[in-house]
Amino acid sequence: MSNKIRVIVAGAGGRMGKEVVKLVLEDDALELAAAVDRSSHEQDAGRLAGLPDAGIIVSEDLESALASSAADVLVDFTTPQFAYINTALAIKYGVRPVIGTTGFTPEQISELDKQCQDQGIGGLIAPNFSIGAILLMKFAAQAAKYFPHLEIIEYHGDQKLDAPSGTAIKTAEIISEVRKELRQGNPEEEEIIEGSRGGYYNGFRIHSVRLPGVFAQEEVIFGGFGQSLKIRHDSYERAGYMPGVKLGIEKVMEYTGMIYGFDHFIE
Ligand code: NAD
Repeated sequence: MSNKIRVIVAGAGGRMGKEVVKLVLEDDALELAAAVDRSSHEQDAGRLAGLPDAGIIVSEDLESALASSAADVLVDFTTPQFAYINTALAIKYGVRPVIGTTGFTPEQISELDKQCQDQGIGGLIAPNFSIGAILLMKFAAQAAKYFPHLEIIEYHGDQKLDAPSGTAIKTAEIISEVRKELRQGNPEEEEIIEGSRGGYYNGFRIHSVRLPGVFAQEEVIFGGFGQSLKIRHDSYERAGYMPGVKLGIEKVMEYTGMIYGFDHFIE
């Protein structure tokens, strides 16, 4: 009997899902139990991810995969519309969910926590699996205690719909937990061109740069008397999220209940 962790990947044909399939197929401690996708089914999961055939055909039906593949973990990178249903279904079959899909409400998370508790299994919902981005937030919060004057600049591709990024908002929230609200800058400051000073959050500013060719970057700049400090994280490609996904798959085997946020595993 193998002691590999058996993983179902939902969204296996998507940009993140293909990376997860690659991770699972190339990692000796993991085994691909099934692959599910709405639009890329009937293809071999390995080939779809750019690897040799894996002998696992992508199916359309998550419930059959959960019922028949003796899986330990479901990794879901689908769409906000389906992720809640997929997570609840996995829990029903005793398969631990590791969810990268964004868009869960606090009520849904607490309902899913209850379901995990009732089943006696662990679950993880992590809107950001990048270890570097989580460390940036933690370091920035630490620095803000000593440097309360700061600005956040985030950079993404020009087709991104929302601004600022979810990661920038989360960074601002974490900083605000340790920094007393302080309105920075000159109280008489005037914007000659509207928006020049960026978005206002608890007294500091967030700037969103959108350019083709950029993947995801974030910088927090702190200013003090006669010095400045910059903390910066650069993501270059989706593979950068995979060490976090791997850690999530391992950790979810060890506890009971739903954990929200990958930062819980980064001390
Ligand atoms: P994508 O559109 O490339 O892929 C989504 C895939 O899911 C598609 O192949 C689609 O056919 C499939 N799908 C949709 N509904 C399905 C269902 N009900 N069952 C099975 N498959 C289904 O999207 P993406 O860029 O891979 O992103 C997916 C999600 O991951 C988004 O919510 C995104 O915000 C999130 N994301 C999270 C992180 C993180 O670190 N947590 C990082 C990047 C993206």
